[in-house]
Amino acid sequence: MTDDTSYSPGVQKYIEEAKKNIARQEAHRAVMKTKKFDTIAVHGLYSVEEALNNNQGAVIEPLYLSASQAYRDSDELEAALAYLIPTWCYTRIANPSTYYLEWALALLEGYGTGCDTSCCVTASGMAAITSAVDPFLIRQKEGEPMNFVTSVQVYGGTYQLFSIRKMAEQGVDVRWVAQPENIDEWKEKIDENTRFLYVEAPSNPQQSFCDVKAVADLAHSWGIPFIFDATCATPALLRPIAYGVDIVIHSLTKSITSGGLAIGGCLTSRKPIVTKVKNDHPLFKESFAEYVKFLPYRDTGPAASPVNAIYALNDLRLLRIKMDLFSRNCHKVAAFLQNHSRVYQVDYLGLPDFHLHSLAKRYMKLVDSNDGSGGEVNRYGHLMSFRVDGPPANARKVFDGFEMIFRATDLGRIKSVATIPAISTHLQQGEEARNIADVPPQLIRLCVGGEDPDDVITDVDQALNKL
Ligand SMILES: *Cc1c(COP(=O)(O)O)cnc(C)c1O
Repeated sequence: MTDDTSYSPGVQKYIEEAKKNIARQEAHRAVMKTKKFDTIAVHGLYSVEEALNNNQGAVIEPLYLSASQAYRDSDELEAALAYLIPTWCYTRIANPSTYYLEWALALLEGYGTGCDTSCCVTASGMAAITSAVDPFLIRQKEGEPMNFVTSVQVYGGTYQLFSIRKMAEQGVDVRWVAQPENIDEWKEKIDENTRFLYVEAPSNPQQSFCDVKAVADLAHSWGIPFIFDATCATPALLRPIAYGVDIVIHSLTKSITSGGLAIGGCLTSRKPIVTKVKNDHPLFKESFAEYVKFLPYRDTGPAASPVNAIYALNDLRLLRIKMDLFSRNCHKVAAFLQNHSRVYQVDYLGLPDFHLHSLAKRYMKLVDSNDGSGGEVNRYGHLMSFRVDGPPANARKVFDGFEMIFRATDLGRIKSVATIPAISTHLQQGEEARNIADVPPQLIRLCVGGEDPDDVITDVDQALNKL
C-alpha cells in the first residue's frame, strides 16, 4: 500500500476506505495473537464481525469458487490492480477462502516465537518448495557460480527437484549433507556463493534431524536464509522460526489435512528474513511470503484451489489434539516393533535408543502441553519406519500381508498407511542416492493414524508372523 498523490480523488477515496479496513484487520490480528494455539487453529482470522459484515453470517469460512472479483467502478479497479488496496481480483493471485487458511497458518507458525510471520498457500508441497527456493537462485551476474547446501534426507520429490531441475537442468551446484546432525559437515560445504541452507526434519522416511538453532546461526553468520520443511512435525510439534529459521515449508497434503481430501502446500516466512540476494522489492526481505504471493506466484501460477484450501482449513482446527494422539499411537507401535524378532531396526525419534533421540527431544514438543513441572511434553509425530529381517522379498511379503493398514504412497493420514520407499517414493532417485540417504529395500515406512494402536499392532504382527 502506498500513499501516491498522483492518483485521482476517486482512487484516493478507495485507498482511504481500505486503510480503515486494514486497521480493523490488524487490530483483530493483534487480538488473535494473544490467544492459545487451539483457539487460533479453530478461528484463525475469521471473526464474528467478519462473518456478519462480509459473509452472510456464515459460521464456517465460506468457499469462494468464483475465479474473479468484480469492482464498483474504474477507480476501484485501478486501485486494486495497482495493489493500492487489499483485493483478491483473480484466484491465481488471491482468493478469500485461501486467505483465511494463509492467516491461520501464519499465526500458528509464529505462535510463541516472538516473530511476525506471513504465509503463502500453494497448490502442493512441491509448489511451495519451488516458490521458496527459486527467488534465491537468480544469477545476478553472467556466469556467476551459485550453490545451496541441503540435507540429503529429503522427500523423494524434493530430491528430484534439487538434483534434476536445479542441478542438472539449471546448473545450480547442489551440495548434499549426509549427516545433518553434524554441524561440521554444514560448515565444510558452505562458501560465499551459497544462497541458502535447506533441511527437512523429521525427514521422510529416515527420521533424520538437525540442531535447528545451530544450523540457523550458521546460515545467518553467512548472511543467508535457512529454509526448513517441517511437514512431518506440523506447527503443533515444532515451530522452527523460534530457533531462527527464515522460511518454513509444509506439504498441507499430509498431517495438516489428515482427512486426506486435498493437496496443498504453504511457505511461511519470518519478518524479516536474512539474505544477501539483491532484490529491490521491499517485501523480499521484509515479508518474503507476501513477496512471493504478490510477484513470482502471480507470474508462475502455483495457486491452490479454494476447495482444497477449505478442506485444509477445516482439518487444521484440531491439529494439536490430533498430533498428540497420532504421536502416542505411533510411539506404541514403534516400541512394539522394536522388540519384534523379525525386525532388525526401527527408526522413530521417540525411541530412547534411536541415535537422534536426545537431539529431537530438545525440539519436538507438543505446543501448550504440560508435563507437570511447567515444561512441554515431548511428542515425535506419527511417521516411523522399520526394517524387516532377511532379503527385500521379506519386506514385500510383510507389506503385502497387511489387512487393515493401507498400502499407499501417502502419509499424515487419520488412517494408518504404509509404503516401501525404495520401490515407490524413492524409486526415481536410484540406488546410489538411496544408499547415501539410507533407504534400503528392507525398509517399510509406516504412518500410524487415529485407530486404536492395539489394532494397528495386531495387523503388523500378523503380517510379520507370515514370514
Ligand atoms: C509429501 C511431501 C512433500 C511434497 O508435498 P506434495 O503436497 O505432495 O507436493 C514435501 N515434503 C515432505 C516432507 C513431504 O512428505
